Amino acid sequence: MYFLERIQAHAHLNAFIHIYADEALHRARAIDQRIQREHTLKRLTGVVLGIKDVIAYAGHPLTAASRMLQNFRSLFSATAVERLLAEEAIIIGSLNCDEFAMGSSTENSFFGPTLHPLNPEYVPGGSSGGSAAAVSADLCMLALGSDTGGSVRQPADFCGIIGLKPTYGRVSRHGLIAYASSFDQIGIFGKNIADVATTLEVIAGPDEYDSTASPLPIEPYLPLTSPENKPWKLAYMKEALEHPSLDQEISAAIRSLIKRLNEEGHIVNPVHFTYLDVITPAYYVLTTAEASANLARYDGIRYGYHTSNETGLTLEATYRKTRSEGFGREVKRRILLGTYVLSEGYYEAYYTKAQQVRRLVAQEANRILDEYACLLMPTFPSTAFRLGEKTDDPVKMYLGDVYTVFANLAGLPAISIPLFTHSNGLPFGIQLVAGRFREKQLLQVADYLCTTFSKLN
Ligand code: GLN
Repeated sequence: MYFLERIQAHAHLNAFIHIYADEALHRARAIDQRIQREHTLKRLTGVVLGIKDVIAYAGHPLTAASRMLQNFRSLFSATAVERLLAEEAIIIGSLNCDEFAMGSSTENSFFGPTLHPLNPEYVPGGSSGGSAAAVSADLCMLALGSDTGGSVRQPADFCGIIGLKPTYGRVSRHGLIAYASSFDQIGIFGKNIADVATTLEVIAGPDEYDSTASPLPIEPYLPLTSPENKPWKLAYMKEALEHPSLDQEISAAIRSLIKRLNEEGHIVNPVHFTYLDVITPAYYVLTTAEASANLARYDGIRYGYHTSNETGLTLEATYRKTRSEGFGREVKRRILLGTYVLSEGYYEAYYTKAQQVRRLVAQEANRILDEYACLLMPTFPSTAFRLGEKTDDPVKMYLGDVYTVFANLAGLPAISIPLFTHSNGLPFGIQLVAGRFREKQLLQVADYLCTTFSKLN
């Protein structure tokens, strides 16, 4: 009831696409009755969660914030959702996002933009902006999002909360609408590391429905403190802190954090990474290529939006009209870009080259993270920007992803944690990246930083 009232009181944020009020209340009562009978709790008993509207929940709408799926309902639940429900979580609604998770501001939603919870003139980030805004404004305790190039970490950074993207393959993608399948990963939003760690424990692990889900068993992520791990051996990317696009105040805050960590006896060494300026272009070549193939299924024939029946339309014209009307501008732009980079004659120059960049980035990243527990970076070059500020200039919007796409290109786990407030009044955090499947260490360092350094300024 508490959260339903808050959702209503914050309806102007447009964080939710659908709210499951009656169902959530009904489920809460059923859970109460079970507890009275059995006197036991499960790992997420009564925890109220929202899910980004690209994650399937059987019998519920699944829109990807697109006109294409405006009236679509899912026939099955994502593995992550099944596992949440099995631990007695309550799913309170589906959360707004950029259409098909393509964007950095939640302005590309067919259902209208989500607003920043602290200032309605600003964006909450994206693509999982609804998830971040909802958790930040206490409209639910935790939320799931998806992170292909930063869509969990960046909105968490903008909204002053925690956002975790697990290692590629740690959480099953079964039931997650595909954007770029070799990058996509379900992630978690929360306000403290222990909650995020518990949720990860619940949703992670092998899954027979997703062959890219790793067979590695899940480690218990709690307790978060283990004294033998200190002092931490951390690294920071020199080029990232010196990047011309980075806000001076963010850069200064991270430098002073590094200094404080040194004073606390931790090792924080600079490392070089020379590919920073090519990773964003490589990310956009590869993800649009994958998106152009993944989105080919939306033809309006079997399900989804179908253009109004005109007589005399050929099959091809029906496809064209359906897709022209069903997809928004950004999605169309990416399908065109992806088709172009895959076309004969350009394939080698763009797609193959970007694959090579991806391999180099992964090699470099692994080399650094074999030696260090975590790599420290900004999450985004600035704090949240104004609504409409970047909508006319897609390249400007894309370039903001410079710090987040690194972890997706290399398949690494990464987290954004809220530590700072900018002089403009908006929150920002820092990002930590760890080696493959080293979520436990990532969460431990994150927890240490949150408890030791939060509210640094
Ligand atoms: N901003 C990035 C993009 O537009 C990230 C999206 C995501 O992670 N889903 O592709």
